[in-house]
Amino acid sequence: MRSVNDILDLTRGEVEELISVALDIIENPKKYSEKCKGKKLATLFFEPSTRTRLSFEAAMYELGGNVLSVPGASLSSAAKGESVADTAKVVSCYADIIAMRHPKEGAAFVAAKNARIPVINAGDGGHCHPTQTLADMLTIFREKGRFDGLTVGFCGDLKYGRTVHSLINSLSRYSGVKLVLISPEELKLPEYVKRDAIVPNGMEYAETSVLEEFMPELDVLYMTRIQQERFSDAAEYQRLKDSYILTADKLAAAKKDTIVLHPLPRVNEISVKVDDDARACYFKQVENGKYMRMALILKLLEDAERTKVKTPLTCEKGLVYGKHRCNNPRCITSQEQEIEHIFREAGEGENKVFRCVYCEKEAD
Ligand code: ASP
Repeated sequence: MRSVNDILDLTRGEVEELISVALDIIENPKKYSEKCKGKKLATLFFEPSTRTRLSFEAAMYELGGNVLSVPGASLSSAAKGESVADTAKVVSCYADIIAMRHPKEGAAFVAAKNARIPVINAGDGGHCHPTQTLADMLTIFREKGRFDGLTVGFCGDLKYGRTVHSLINSLSRYSGVKLVLISPEELKLPEYVKRDAIVPNGMEYAETSVLEEFMPELDVLYMTRIQQERFSDAAEYQRLKDSYILTADKLAAAKKDTIVLHPLPRVNEISVKVDDDARACYFKQVENGKYMRMALILKLLEDAERTKVKTPLTCEKGLVYGKHRCNNPRCITSQEQEIEHIFREAGEGENKVFRCVYCEKEAD
């Protein structure tokens, strides 16, 4: 049985296989319309969502399955203080697969460890969002026909942008991908993403705070929202919220076949005038997300039928117990006192560090 906490829990080959299944679903929807008959997906969303939740639910219905869901954190037992582990154990009695979104980093990993059924991380705090990456990968593939050799610009909140972290990890498995990281100083890409994904894979990258600087070189421009809910300092959010606005004038400097992506929701970082430009692909990305989630649900349910033994997740390698404590307030360990603090070894030789398995924070 497999869960997907991080995009790296799927191999590059598996992501490509999911793309092929999604393309087949698009061509032959009837072939898939009863594949999940009698199966139930539980959507546990403890943080706001429109697309991810609805696309998981639409995906399950289009596979002929059913959906169970709680309307939100305030109406579930989480509001009474139930732990993520207990919620996962309880829901395992009712459903066949779980999609979980949670504001705390590492929550989906805790759920996967405790559930008896596959768990899909539908976004954990500012950490990762593997199924958005699946949507992004299918969109890039359908629009550009390849991943190798692309120049991809990421713009906005690269610090807390979980979709950015996951997509960089996925693209790091291809050759010749160049990254342009566009953000204010305060929202730069976390060092751990650079150290785990960019540096060891020899990816070329540039960092800038100016959106226009590399515009003519980009094949893909991935815009993101400055995420108010991730800021502890309201004044900092006010200062940074309008850092980037992609207008038709700015996009005029891009290539004719550049594609513009955005995981949505958009606040004001892409002018609505850009929507009519053929290069704007963010609504196609929404639709692609449903097909990739269909392909993933199918894969994980088929796998769970074959075996109940859990395949270890990527973060469960080189584990160190009882030596370090995580003090990241965004980590699930800060909310639930009984969760064991577990770290894992990352890097080699002099660069060896210990990182929290839930949120990636380095041990002090
Ligand atoms: N929908 C994306 C996410 O859940 C991006 C965002 O919320 O800005 O991470």
